Amino acid sequence: MSTTLTPSDILYDKTYECPVCYNKFTSKAIRTGKNQALSSDIDLYARYAVINPILYDAILCPNCGYCSLSKNFSTLLPTQIKWIKEQVTPKYKKRNFDTYTSINDAIIKHQLALVSSIIKKGKIGEQAYICLHIAWLYRDLNALNQEKIYLNKAVNGLKQALETENFPLFNLDALTTSYIISAISYTLGDYTNAKTYLSDVLYNSNGKLKDRALNLKEMILEHS
Ligand SMILES: [Zn+2]
Repeated sequence: MSTTLTPSDILYDKTYECPVCYNKFTSKAIRTGKNQALSSDIDLYARYAVINPILYDAILCPNCGYCSLSKNFSTLLPTQIKWIKEQVTPKYKKRNFDTYTSINDAIIKHQLALVSSIIKKGKIGEQAYICLHIAWLYRDLNALNQEKIYLNKAVNGLKQALETENFPLFNLDALTTSYIISAISYTLGDYTNAKTYLSDVLYNSNGKLKDRALNLKEMILEHS
């Protein structure tokens, strides 16, 4: 017998301690295993059975305004803490977010995470990753222009990160990143760039990524 899960079944309150101001607070997190991935868009935006994990992935300290993706919320160097205190906290306006995050609130939190990442002089790859997720959230609002603005930022940042930074970038290895650059370039109508970044994936990947790359190749060829 199948039961229908709702967001409240798979979300729980996770406690964080802010590395900047030491404030302890809770933010909703997702119980892994209960939220199956069903499918994904061409650029690997995964669609889940119950809840979009990206909605809950940007963690904001409600006290000082420091914000980061959950994956590296606690990882700050002393100089970065100083920069956040000097440049983020004075401008931070406290606001209340609903317990269950709307797409619009998730976009606001990701934009705050982007600000914190820029102020802490975080990796280009991290900023590109945040921009990619903002683009995906705009996709769910059918806000095409905003989606394109952030896809452009994401693709430029991911290209730069591939050249200058270490991978993996969170859960993305270099080949998967090349595939995403190719898929976004295709979406943006830049078929030359799409081909350039796909060739490496076609030669070096296997399994599902290879299948996706072959499929994308067909789609690109229709525009050549
Ligand atoms: Zn804080």
